[in-house]
Order: sequence, then C-alpha cells, then structure tokens
Amino acid sequence: MYKSIQKRLTNELLEIKKTGLFKDERIISSKQGSSIEVDNKNEVLNFCANNYLGLASHPDVIKKSKEFMDSHGFGMASVRFICGTQNIHKQLEQKISNFLGKEDTILYAAAFDANGGFFEPLFNNQDAIISDQLNHASLIDGIRLCKAQRFRYLHNNMLDLEKKLIESQNCRNRIIVTDAVFSMDGTIAQMDKICHLAKKYDALVMSDECHSTGFIGPSGRGVHEEFGVMDDVDIITGTLGKALGGASGGFTSGPKEIIEILRQKSRPYLFSNTLAPSIVGACLAVMEIIESDNSHLNRLKKNTEKFREGIQKIGFDIKPGTHPIVPIMLYDANLAQKMSRELMAHGIYVIGFFYPVVPKGEARIRVQLSSSHTEKQIKYALNAFESVGKKLNII
Ligand SMILES: *Cc1c(COP(=O)(O)O)cnc(C)c1O
Repeated sequence: MYKSIQKRLTNELLEIKKTGLFKDERIISSKQGSSIEVDNKNEVLNFCANNYLGLASHPDVIKKSKEFMDSHGFGMASVRFICGTQNIHKQLEQKISNFLGKEDTILYAAAFDANGGFFEPLFNNQDAIISDQLNHASLIDGIRLCKAQRFRYLHNNMLDLEKKLIESQNCRNRIIVTDAVFSMDGTIAQMDKICHLAKKYDALVMSDECHSTGFIGPSGRGVHEEFGVMDDVDIITGTLGKALGGASGGFTSGPKEIIEILRQKSRPYLFSNTLAPSIVGACLAVMEIIESDNSHLNRLKKNTEKFREGIQKIGFDIKPGTHPIVPIMLYDANLAQKMSRELMAHGIYVIGFFYPVVPKGEARIRVQLSSSHTEKQIKYALNAFESVGKKLNII
C-alpha cells in the first residue's frame, strides 16, 4: 500500500526542492539567544528569533521554571477540565487579563489553537467574520472551521473594511479580525481606525497580538495600548512563544462571557492537554519582569532604532516603520537566498523570504531585533550587511 503514496510524495518533495521552496532546518546546539551555536559554528549572531525581550534564556525565568517543576511537577497528564487546572494556571490567566486590561483569559497549548478554537463556539451562519486578507494562517484556519459568513477586506485598507461592514449589515453579530502586527512587513494595524469603524457599525474587534504583547505600546501591553484603544479592542489572542519567554502556549483574553463559552466549547481547549507547570510558572516570572522592569523594552526600542537607522544609511531599502521586524527589500528570490548564505558566512543568522510567503517580486531578508543584542553585535551586523551588500552589488 505504502509504495503508491511513497512515489507521489517523493515526486512532490522533488518538486518542492526544484522550485527552491524546500525548508531546511538549521541545527542549534546552544540556548536561544542573540549569540548561538548553529550547525557546529560557534558565536553566530541571531537576528531571526521572536525573542524580542531577550527572555528566552533569562536566568530568572529558567530558575523560576525549575522551582515550579519542583513544586508543581513535570506534567499534569490531563486536560484542564478534568484534572489539569492548577492554581498557577489561574494565576497566569489573571495576570495576563490585568496586563491587557481584559476581564478574563483562557490559556491554550499554542496561539495557533487559541485562534483555531475561537470562532466556531461563538458564531454561526447568522453571523459575519470580517478579516484582513493577510491574516495569520491560524486565524484563517479558525475561520474555516466556523459556519459564519466570511468577508475578507483588502490588507490594511479601511475603505474596503467599511465596505464589508456595510455589506454585512443584516447579520446578527459581526466581528472584525486582524493581526495586530503583520509579521512579514512589520506593519502595525490601524487599530484606532478599526475600532472607530467597529463602533460605527456595531461590530466586535479581535486582535491577534502575537508580535506585540510585551513590547509594543508605552508599557508593552500591545497595539491596543499603542493606539489608546485598550477598551475598544474586545478580544486579544496572543502567544507565550515569542516575547513572553518563547517556550510555548497561547491565550485568548476578553469579556468574561466569551471566555467562559470558550472554556465550555472550544475544541483545542477541551480536547488537548493543559500547559506544563514549568512553562506556566516561568511565564508568571516573565510577566513580573515585564511589569516591573522596563529596561528590556527600552533596549529593544533603542536597538530597533539603531538598526533601522544604520541599515538605511548604508543604502539598503527597508519597509518603513517602527517594529523590531525590519524587512530589507531585495525583490529577487535568488538574491535573498544568496544574501542570507553570505551573511551566515559572516556569522549573521537571518532568513530570506520569498514567494509564496511574500508576494512575487517582494523577496527580502527579514531582520528581527531583540533587547538582548548588544551595541557591538548590532554594529558588527551592520558592517556585515554593508560588505555583503557591496559584494552582491545591492548597494
Ligand atoms: C506566531 C503566531 C501565531 C502562532 O503562535 P504559536 O503560539 O506559536 O502557535 C499566531 N498568530 C500570529 C500572528 C503569529 O505571529
């Protein structure tokens, strides 16, 4: 039996390789950080992690994680509603709710699950989901699992969003869904305008803050804080797998009735294991660090400014913005691949992105800054970009 599918899969894999889209995984043999060991190469500077606040290997976080393993065990071997809810799960939910300014929070094994399990319990064919066309795959999948009517507006286009709100006016309930930050461009959604339209047309707002919780906004609460619309964004989903320590886990925060319905009916919550105690405990420590110590946030902002300024001065073309995601536009897929290889030879780890991850003709290198990058590391990276850029005739 296997022979026939094996042949098909072998051909498919060959096809992926032929089109240059095969994703190789580099092997890291150190902790996550701004300097790592990759493919047995020492001291590679890492500019492609979502470790925005440098907490992935923070000694206090690791220490807390060990303590919680001692006090609360390694695993719970249960879903939440049977015997998988510990006091620390409730504490973390409370802490995230307070941080985001929401009534309640529900934890998931991943933000992918939070998004995947959000829509189906709350909406049916009488309702409408109005989503940005470039939303994350997990939102798209979550919306697919739900019978609600679907409306897609042009990326970041408020005129088109309003059009879709007008078209869907006869639906019972409506929800606007957007990534708070679009990770390929570092574009921040126009949350103030979205909330304004939501009020005008009586729709809910859901924001996926995976690339903003912990570090966007004056105190790092996210894009809803940045735009002064903390109360107007109704539902926030986020991840524990990026700035908040980078382990794994996700959450949905919002009005208490919505969160309660999710606890009763959301399938990835009901039918999947609870978060491991060591992760939950460490994330409590992460939240404490973020709330009491803004030095990580300030350093991230400074590093981002420094890199954005420096890379433009050298002559590279970047997508403008303020986010620590900095897309360096090369437009040509081969060039993007070549450039990332050359940079690796200089000890700089960055990834080239090209079609289908970004539109055709918009190939790029995506750099991500972290608060853990030192001035020296950023300077070294800028020098490496300059010499590789010259060698490849980009600048
Ligand atoms: C990373 C990401 C997710 C998935 O988060 P996980 O916790 O890793 O599943 C969902 N949405 C967006 C916008 C993301 O960037």
